[in-house]
Amino acid sequence: MIRPFSEPIYVTRPILPPVADITARLEQIWSTQWLTNAGPQHEELEGALRRYLNVDQLSLFTNGTIALLCAIRALELSGEVITTPFTFPATPHALAWSGITPVFADIDPVRLTLDPAKVEERITPKTTGILAVHVYGVPCDVEALAAIAAKYRLRLLYDGAHAFGVRIRGTGIGSYGDATMFSFHATKLFHTGEGGAISCATPELRHRIDRLKNFGIADQETVECVGINGKMSELQAALGLAVLEHMHAETNRRRSVLGLYAKRLGALPGITLMPELHGVESSYQYCAVRIDQSLFGASRDELHRTLKTFNVFARKYFYPLCSDYPSYRELPSASPECVPVARAAASQVLCLPLYGSLGDDAVHTICDIVQSVSSVRT
Ligand SMILES: *Cc1c(COP(=O)(O)O)cnc(C)c1O
Repeated sequence: MIRPFSEPIYVTRPILPPVADITARLEQIWSTQWLTNAGPQHEELEGALRRYLNVDQLSLFTNGTIALLCAIRALELSGEVITTPFTFPATPHALAWSGITPVFADIDPVRLTLDPAKVEERITPKTTGILAVHVYGVPCDVEALAAIAAKYRLRLLYDGAHAFGVRIRGTGIGSYGDATMFSFHATKLFHTGEGGAISCATPELRHRIDRLKNFGIADQETVECVGINGKMSELQAALGLAVLEHMHAETNRRRSVLGLYAKRLGALPGITLMPELHGVESSYQYCAVRIDQSLFGASRDELHRTLKTFNVFARKYFYPLCSDYPSYRELPSASPECVPVARAAASQVLCLPLYGSLGDDAVHTICDIVQSVSSVRT
């Protein structure tokens, strides 16, 4: 008999460095009395992350969504932008908030990222760009998307909120396209409590993004564009620097937890884990599985409910599809027959608990529960 966990097991837990590491940095902040606007902690974190992410240009933000809004404005996107319905609300919202119509295109059945062929079908004279998402850290087909962007002279922007630390044959994921957004929200792998960043291709674009996140201020007497306040504070940056020290250990431990899940669940009928693509260094941020009801013997929703009775809170991430939100469902591209692959994925995916402090015993118990749900019917 499988015993329920005595404490709830959530899908993730933030890296929390020893409090002493934070207080040491807080003392530095107190001594300088510099709380925000590109202070020493901010500059140190920006440099450290540029190296960690292996990108040329990086600009830190107070959260990922404001970062995305600034990138959209810096790239002068307008009219229609093609994006995926299989993502977090922030992706289409950042477009709609900027007065742009999100146009949904279907996803690839294996990567669960935008299908380049479907993107091409959605291009109209109003299209100005593509906003693609590296779902669960699995990179989009970056070469095919770059070819389409070049062919139709579109801007290519990536939501890399899931892809911190991902590399393709050594190249940082943030080096692809015109710009890439990263989120440092507490639920993400690397975090600053709330926070985010934009990496981009050129110093000129970086300069424009830096202006936009500081009200458009160029100097004390010059405001050169309509900006917003998107700056990361010294306190956020201090937390980030302390968290960064733990990334190596956290990533190693998550890799081993994922390996255990793969070993236990990989051979079960009706369960598919996310693909490991050749040459791709993963972020180890999510353990997403797909449940094919006819082979597994139970639906994703039944598994989700059963896990809950054992105090395990897996997440139906991403469900519902963004194209089903009241704000978007009337759009022509949001009709169900336009996004069948995304619709199937949204009904099948489940994110299982994955974090460094999750013990092997707990992973085994979670796998026992999954196995018991499956074997009940087969
Ligand atoms: C978390 C997340 C965001 C939003 O980032 P915030 O830092 O919370 O604003 C955007 N897109 C995706 C795919 C995310 O997972």
